[in-house]
Amino acid sequence: MLLGFIIWFGCAIIAAMIASERGSSGVLWFIFGLFFGVIAVLLAFTCGKRCPFCASKISTKAIVCPKCQKSALGRKNEEVKKD
Ligand SMILES: [Zn+2]
Repeated sequence: MLLGFIIWFGCAIIAAMIASERGSSGVLWFIFGLFFGVIAVLLAFTCGKRCPFCASKISTKAIVCPKCQKSALGRKNEEVKKD
């Protein structure tokens, strides 16, 4: 029972870490992880945005794509600050 709780809690931390690395709110994903456990970890991997040029996954806060060095904002800045 305790081990299950530790794993569940660990999932929340991992989800928060992945999300914050991708530019999402770590706190929000931590809470999300507490509710959904492993599912939140998997969903955290899908968050973030894709580069409009090379389609690689980049942080939502990225201005320049780390892979192709092009502007990750695209033609117009559609990212509205949510934080
Ligand atoms: Zn790119």
